[in-house]
Amino acid sequence: MALYADLHRHLGGSVVPRILWRYFKRHDPKMAQRFPQYPVFEEFYTRKRKTLDEYLELHTLVENVQTEETLPYFIYRLIRGAYIFEHLAYLELRYTPYLRTPQYLEQSERIDAMTNIVKIVGKASQVKEYPIVISQILCMHSRLPYEVNKAIVDLAAQMKNYVCAIDVAGGDSHYGERLDEFIDLYKYARALGLNTTGHLYETSDGCYPELLPYLMRIGHGIQIPLKFPELLPEIARSNQCLEICPTTYLKTGNLENLYELKTVFDRCFEAGVHIAICTDNAGLHNVRLPFEFENLLTQDVIDFHQLQACQNFAFQHAFAWPYKKPPASLLTGLLKDKSLQRS
Ligand SMILES: [Zn+2]
Repeated sequence: MALYADLHRHLGGSVVPRILWRYFKRHDPKMAQRFPQYPVFEEFYTRKRKTLDEYLELHTLVENVQTEETLPYFIYRLIRGAYIFEHLAYLELRYTPYLRTPQYLEQSERIDAMTNIVKIVGKASQVKEYPIVISQILCMHSRLPYEVNKAIVDLAAQMKNYVCAIDVAGGDSHYGERLDEFIDLYKYARALGLNTTGHLYETSDGCYPELLPYLMRIGHGIQIPLKFPELLPEIARSNQCLEICPTTYLKTGNLENLYELKTVFDRCFEAGVHIAICTDNAGLHNVRLPFEFENLLTQDVIDFHQLQACQNFAFQHAFAWPYKKPPASLLTGLLKDKSLQRS
């Protein structure tokens, strides 16, 4: 029995369009008036954007409604969908906690308020009837000041029962002028014993080899096999896994078609670099994890053998999966246990 792990999913992009539209209908008269019919909203919400920056703008729409009060509402629905429709056994949910705090507060008050957000997300993620192992990744943000990003790292270190890693997000073209700052923050995080991933080598403007040594996994990283394949042997030696999110590259205009990913998979497999297939923004795309798998197969990007390898790599590189093996191997034994069978 196949159960899956998703290592790269944003809380902001995880709300499927129908859930968000229903929320607006019930609680936001302005948005409800703008989108009285669901199909128009779905078209607006899921359509392809011209650039990564334009695509990321959409996150603010969701961030603004994901507050202390409403987070449990959205998280419950996210977990319910992930369990029922996606067969997830494991999920790492990432977000920037600062952007969920009330905007009217001072910066220092917003920093203090982040602790509560992490607790709310942590508690809301434990849903008895949908038992998925869930952990949080806290994202530093390319547009937030150093003090806030450092506080995010400190918070991750203080709340390891809820948080398994840190990340940097917000568009990889914006790290450039502050690269030293982010290197320092990653060094600091590693010194605190934190796991690390980072949005890097997603677009051609986001290729910073200086950051690579500090990352245990690489968020996207598709430009490495596409444009800098000479880096792959070192990535393999360092056991850094790429988190590939196929639909994202179409929605951001980064790739023209999925088949371009064939080079990414082929070169990584050849060099021994592991890939986990992820959704990034399953709600925003309206594409759930099993469909990411299926699309790669039907478009001949990968074969079944590669797919299963990637599904296993996801559990292998999961920061908070508590078992030695993926769930399939645990369940297979259980399903064949004669002592458990009906007489
Ligand atoms: Zn992402």
